[in-house]
Amino acid sequence: MAHETVYCIGIDIGGTKISLGVFDSNGLLYGQIQNVPVPFDEKKVADPNRMINLITPFIEDAQNHYSPLIGIGLSICGNVDKHTGEAVLTPNLHWRNVPFGAMVQRAFHLPVFAGTDVRAATLAERLWGVARNARFFAWCTVGTGYGGYLFLDGKLYDGYHGFAGPFGHITWDEEGYPCGCGRRGCFETFVAGPAIARAGQAAVDAGHSPLMASLSQGGRVTTQVVIQAYYQNDAAAVSIIEQVARLIAINLSGLVNALDLEMIVLGGGVIQACPKLLDRIDHHIRYHLMSDEARRDLRLEQETFVNSALYGAAADVFVRSGVIHEALGA
Ligand SMILES: [Zn+2]
Repeated sequence: MAHETVYCIGIDIGGTKISLGVFDSNGLLYGQIQNVPVPFDEKKVADPNRMINLITPFIEDAQNHYSPLIGIGLSICGNVDKHTGEAVLTPNLHWRNVPFGAMVQRAFHLPVFAGTDVRAATLAERLWGVARNARFFAWCTVGTGYGGYLFLDGKLYDGYHGFAGPFGHITWDEEGYPCGCGRRGCFETFVAGPAIARAGQAAVDAGHSPLMASLSQGGRVTTQVVIQAYYQNDAAAVSIIEQVARLIAINLSGLVNALDLEMIVLGGGVIQACPKLLDRIDHHIRYHLMSDEARRDLRLEQETFVNSALYGAAADVFVRSGVIHEALGA
């Protein structure tokens, strides 16, 4: 029996850009992913009304070309109430209690399904990606931030308050660097993109890396510069990335030891720019695993999609509207 193809729009709102795409329930992307910059006001607060204006041409075009279009999936970089679509706390956008889901619904007269980006990415990897048959895995992103989400015993794991997942805020050094979460010394402050750039800058300031100094052309050392130098075997850059791999391995091994995971899917800007980091984490993590079984079976995989959260926004629409009949806890 042939099934009618149904479509939805996925939208991923990141800290700097908004990505949009049209998808079917097999996770197929129609046309190209469109990107528009997040519009910020003079106080560096993202402007939700201008955001809706910016995405309107794309959505109207999709409404004209794809039918039936059953909804809009919204993935947002922060805490989102999945029932109301309210962006409860999104530090990168400087949003607190913005009813963005309801605003999008009013603007386009389509059902809206909103959620946190890491949760969406986890769903996409489980439904259409490398974790397709996994029952116990973690999604881990290394980019501007570091953290992820859990999929346990066949379901997305939300926790008691719905706050489960941010393992980047496990403390590594209680007297360490201040963290965006308000505490100190979280793993994120040692391994995310800004930490890599900071370590690169320190190496240049100490005169340890003429290569990174020349690649930054007199400006601040960026994460990209450290990665570029790493791929050219610069000793200082190699030691920075090696230390990042070691700390991520310690952090993730804690999850695997506590939760008996079978797989970790790693994504985000740093992993995309530096896939060798994944191999180094894979190398170091074996040392910290408790059981021979985990050492033998644990798989570390790179994310399947260019933007797993965008695919996940679409997946969320199909799962929560019942087009995809899988009880994944979405
Ligand atoms: Zn923190």
